[in-house]
Amino acid sequence: MKEVKSPKKPLIYYYGIVLLVLLLFNLFVSPLLMQQEVTEVNYNTFMQMIEEKNIGQVQIEGSQIIFTDKDNSTIYETVALNDPDLTQRLYESGAQFGGVEEQTLSPLLSMLITVVLPLVIFIGLGQYMSKKLMEQMGGKNSMAFGMGKSKAKIYVPSSEGIRFDDVAGEDEAKESLAEIVDYLHNPKKYTDVGASMPKGVLLVGPPGTGKTMLAKAVAGEAGVPFFSMSGSEFVEMFVGMGASKVRDLFQQAKEKAPCIVFIDEIDAIGKKRDGNLGGNDEREQTLNQLLTEMDGFEGNNGVIILAATNRPESLDPALTRPGRFDRRVPVELPDLQGREAILKVHAKKIRTSDDVDFHTIARMAAGASGAELANIINEAALRAVRSGRSVVTEADLEESVEVIIAGYQKKNAVLSDKEKRVVAYHEIGHALVAALQSHSAPVQKITIIPRTSGALGYTMQVEQGDKYLMTKEEIENRIATLTGGRAAEEVVFQEITTGASNDIEQATKLARAMITRYGMSEEFDMVAMETVNNQYLGGDTSLSCSTETQKAIDRKVVELVKAQHAKARKILEDNRSKLDELAQFLYEKETITGDEFMEILNK
Ligand code: ADP
Ligand code: ZN
Repeated sequence: MKEVKSPKKPLIYYYGIVLLVLLLFNLFVSPLLMQQEVTEVNYNTFMQMIEEKNIGQVQIEGSQIIFTDKDNSTIYETVALNDPDLTQRLYESGAQFGGVEEQTLSPLLSMLITVVLPLVIFIGLGQYMSKKLMEQMGGKNSMAFGMGKSKAKIYVPSSEGIRFDDVAGEDEAKESLAEIVDYLHNPKKYTDVGASMPKGVLLVGPPGTGKTMLAKAVAGEAGVPFFSMSGSEFVEMFVGMGASKVRDLFQQAKEKAPCIVFIDEIDAIGKKRDGNLGGNDEREQTLNQLLTEMDGFEGNNGVIILAATNRPESLDPALTRPGRFDRRVPVELPDLQGREAILKVHAKKIRTSDDVDFHTIARMAAGASGAELANIINEAALRAVRSGRSVVTEADLEESVEVIIAGYQKKNAVLSDKEKRVVAYHEIGHALVAALQSHSAPVQKITIIPRTSGALGYTMQVEQGDKYLMTKEEIENRIATLTGGRAAEEVVFQEITTGASNDIEQATKLARAMITRYGMSEEFDMVAMETVNNQYLGGDTSLSCSTETQKAIDRKVVELVKAQHAKARKILEDNRSKLDELAQFLYEKETITGDEFMEILNK
C-alpha cells in the first residue's frame, strides 16, 4: 500500500516558513532600511578633501577612519595610515571630531524594526495559522506547536495494497475478518437486518504472525483508507498528550469513514488499571479517552478499529467488554500446512530451482512464525548470491533454516581433537536415545559444526506432521533424549562437560510443567501449581502455591529428571558399539543425515 499523503502539514512546518521569512528580512531588508551607503575611498582622496576643507565630521576607529563631506550627505571610509599631524590638519580644515552617525534612523526606531516588528509578525502569523489549523482539524483543545497532533498515517488504497492472498495460512482469522470486508463493501445488507458490526476487533497472537498484515489486508480488500498507529506512540512524556492524540486520530478517521483504524501493541495503553497510587496517569488518561471515543460513535458509521496484541491477558477488562473490542481473532503460529504456504508466498519473490521441496523445509522449521519464515527465504536468497548462483536451491533453504535456529556456521572456530570427539558423542547420545525409544520424532540431521549462537553441534529432530497433544510417555522420552547428550559423555569419558547447559534447562522446564501444569504427577493430581503469564511471549510462569508445596515440587522435578537420565544412560550402555560407530562416523563427516544415521543403526 502506498502512503499517499500525510494528513495535514504540522504546525511546525508553518513556523519554519515564518522563521525563514524573518531571517531573510533581517538579512536583506533591514540593512537597507537602516544604513546609508558607506563609500570606501583611498587615503589620497581623504587628504585631498582635507585640503579642500570638504570634511564635515570625522571619527577614527582603530585602523579605520570614517568621515563625511561638508554637507554630511555621504559617509566615507578609509584606512588610517601613520600620519602624525593628521589631527592638526583636520582641525585646521574645520572638521568636527567624532559623531559620525552611521545609522540615519533613531536607535528606538531601529530596535522597533529589528526586534519588535519581527516578533509581532511571528506571533501574529503563528496564531493565525494555528487557529486556521485547529479549525481544519476540528480539535479545539489540541496544543499549539503541533506536539499533540496525531501522527497516524493515512494510507489510501492502491492497486499494490496487501490482500488476503498475500497472507498465507491463517484461514480462520481471514474468515473472521472477511465479514468485516463484506460489511464495508455493503453496509446496507447489515443495517437492513438491524445488525451492527463490532466496533473493535482484537487480533491476538505471538509476534510476527501477520497481525499487521491482516489488518492492512482488510483495508486492501475493502478498498478503504487505513490509519495505523502504535500503542506506544500514544504514551508520551507529557500528560494529556496521548489523550489528545487519540482524539485527533478518531477525528480524522470519522472524516474519512468508512475506514480501518489499526492500533498496534494496544497493550501499551490498554493495560489493566490497577488502582495503585502513583500509577501511570498518562496511560490511564489515554485509555479513558480511547474508551470514550469508542463509546462515542455509532456502531454503523463505518469506522472499524482493529488492534493487535501479544499479551491479551494484560488488557483492561473495560477494553474487551461488549461494545468495544468485543471480537477476538486469534492469529496463531502457523501449522505445517500454513508454514508451507507462507514459504511459498515468499518464495515467489525469489528465483528457486524446481527441485525445492517446501514441505520438507516447512517440517524442519517447526514453531517458526511467519516473519521467521520470510526471513528463512531471504537468508537462502542471500546465501545463493554469496556463492555466486542465480537460483536458490533446496540446500540453501535447509542451511538457512539452521541459521535461523542455530546461527551461522562458525568457520574459524577451532575445536581441539578431544573436544570434537566429545561433541560427536554428545550429539549421537541425543540421537541414539531418541531413536531407541518409541514415540520420538525421527532424527533429521546431526552436525558438529560450531554455530555463532554458541552451539557446538546439534541434533535436529523433525516431527512427521503437526502435534497437538503430547502423552505423558512422550514428554518423559523427550526428557530422556535431552539428557542423552550428557549421558553419552558419562558412559564414554567418565567425565562431564559444560556442553549440556541448554539441555538441562529444557529438561527442567518440561519436568516442571508436567507436575505444575499438566497434572501428570500422582502426588498433586490435577491441581495447577503454576499459571502462565503471557502465553505468546516466552510463556513465563508464576507459582501459585505454598512454600511447602514448592519444596515438594522441586523434589519431584529432580526425581523425574534423574529417572529419565538413568534411563538414557542405560540405553547408551546397552548399545555401546552403535554409539561408538555412529560417533566415529559423525566425527569424520561432521554432518550426518537422518537416513545415514538409520542405516548404520539398523545394520
Ligand atoms: P505481527 O504484526 O503479527 O507482529 P506482521 O504482520 O508485522 O506481524 O508480520 C511481519 C512479516 O512477517 C510480514 O511483513 C510478512 O513478511 C511476514 N508474515 C507474517 N505472517 C505471514 C503470513 N501469514 N503470510 C505471509 N507473510 C507473513
Ligand atoms: Zn545437548
